[in-house]
Amino acid sequence: MRQGASNVVFVEGSQSTYLMRDLYANATSQVANAAAATFVNQTVGDYFRTTNLNDPTKVIKAIAELNGTLVFLNPSYWGSNRDSDKVTVIHEILHNITGHTDDDFARMLNGDLSSMLRRSCL
Ligand SMILES: [Zn+2]
Repeated sequence: MRQGASNVVFVEGSQSTYLMRDLYANATSQVANAAAATFVNQTVGDYFRTTNLNDPTKVIKAIAELNGTLVFLNPSYWGSNRDSDKVTVIHEILHNITGHTDDDFARMLNGDLSSMLRRSCL
């Protein structure tokens, strides 16, 4: 975790043209292929614009590169809740260092990673 935190590169993602599928390029080939099929040429900026303002559970605050160092931030959703921001940073770095997807974490934890972090780390 310390290494991941020292290596992480935060990027303002709202206008980013970085391809979503490239966030998964270092994951298993199964995950990388699924991401390529799902996202095709969708950019991080495009993905952030799919956030659902009417549903707080569908807000996209950040997205991380699996087995990498990049974390893209959606600046609209930072700064109003410090604990939420801390949980998101830890959550995204865990994606960087483990290569696990949210579904992987959900299976391992029998629940949502951010919820577990909120309960265990704050
Ligand atoms: Zn996640």
